Amino acid sequence: MSLSVNDPSLTSWVEVSKGSDFPVQNLPFGIIKVGDDQPRVASRIGEFAIDLKSMFVLGYMENLPFSLEDFDTDSLNIMMKKGKVGTRKLRERISKLFQAGSEDLHTKQHHVDQILISIDEVTMLMPIVIGDYTDFYSSEQHAYNVGCLFRDPENALMPNWKHIPVGYHGRASSIIPSGVDFHRPKGQKKPPTADVPVFGPSNLLDFELETAFFTYEGKPLGGSISTEEADDYIFGMALLNDWSARDIQGWEYVPLGPFLGKSFASHISCWIVTLDALEPFRVSGPVQDPKVLPYLEYSGDKHIAINLDVLIKPEGKEEVSVCKSNYKHMYWNMNQQLAHHSVNGCNIRLGDCMGSGTISGPNEGEYGSMLEISWKGTKPFPMPDGTERKFILDNDTVIMRGYCEKDGVRIGFGEVAAKVLPVT
Ligand code: CA
Repeated sequence: MSLSVNDPSLTSWVEVSKGSDFPVQNLPFGIIKVGDDQPRVASRIGEFAIDLKSMFVLGYMENLPFSLEDFDTDSLNIMMKKGKVGTRKLRERISKLFQAGSEDLHTKQHHVDQILISIDEVTMLMPIVIGDYTDFYSSEQHAYNVGCLFRDPENALMPNWKHIPVGYHGRASSIIPSGVDFHRPKGQKKPPTADVPVFGPSNLLDFELETAFFTYEGKPLGGSISTEEADDYIFGMALLNDWSARDIQGWEYVPLGPFLGKSFASHISCWIVTLDALEPFRVSGPVQDPKVLPYLEYSGDKHIAINLDVLIKPEGKEEVSVCKSNYKHMYWNMNQQLAHHSVNGCNIRLGDCMGSGTISGPNEGEYGSMLEISWKGTKPFPMPDGTERKFILDNDTVIMRGYCEKDGVRIGFGEVAAKVLPVT
């Protein structure tokens, strides 16, 4: 799909530095708080937040299907009720106002001063009130690596894996925004040599490099969203660190799957990059063999090339890159995930969050969890400060960044970062 607001030749009268994640072709959405003001809906360009409430109040949203309550609020949910048609129009309007040569706003400095807020003055809040959280397991390399670690290379993938986008229902209440530090979880675990479980801090705390997508209102109970329709139900994406306590998880997960080893915290990046802005970066996915069932078939390029980085920053030290992966490596794409999720008639609701599953690339250095990087602790990752990492230590900050790049345009997500505090 070709949208004029994605034209690589567009520039803005707002100065945007070369390596910025937020050129005029991006225009993501988020919730900002400035000083004692009430939270509000914003977009972003370069080093500025665009205050959409002020833009509305000052009369720049005329003839759009929005009202003040869409922007004078602490989540994107109300605005998202306008669906893809509405949010696309909104992004087009913002683009038009900020494109080089556009004078409507640019010539009114007293309005510019109210609408553009230096990002240094802004606190980013949780962008969406998430109703349900579903986490998939859709990277073949990740599933293969985990299968090798816990079973054997011959039977690494479970028999269902290439037929079903495997997933589970996660916990929405503990999805929190980048920058909110959290304490190491504690729980029940059973060391391999012990006869009975013990209670204590997780010793095998891990990150999972994922992306998440967020939905518009879906269909009522009983309805299904096809792979063809899926794009119309996806608002946008963020980076997701789906933390895992491997020792708690390993003991509890039989037979019903992940529970307390996952539900203590999952962090998302705060700017939701619209699916529209990501369209130019579509790529083809892997050939799916065996052939999938008809409801999972799709046409066109439905994967997206998003460069992904994971870094660990020990307290007081420089950040260290531990993984470089790419979202294009997924076996199952978002359209297939959404079609599968709703094929039984499950109703998808506005603000649902769907995790990709850990995104591992095919080579060492591209693995999206410490479980794989340290190969279950057998190959510790050497840090420049002389320490090593099998899993994440107290006071480590884990940082994930992501961006697409093509035709001189870089569309990024910013970052999701959080520090692990000692157990309470
Ligand atoms: Ca996960």
